[in-house]
Amino acid sequence: MAKAKDPVCGMTMDTEKAKFKGVYDGVAVYFCAESCQKTFEAKRAKH
Ligand SMILES: [Zn+2]
Repeated sequence: MAKAKDPVCGMTMDTEKAKFKGVYDGVAVYFCAESCQKTFEAKRAKH
């Protein structure tokens, strides 16, 4: 069972249960909530 850390809030979760996932530059990133994913994408967009 793989664990992933939400880069926005720091929450650790199970990758199999994560509902919110995105692939950025070929790397899968998992989020606890859609709001965290949106925040992450907004930060990326600034760079
Ligand atoms: Zn989160």
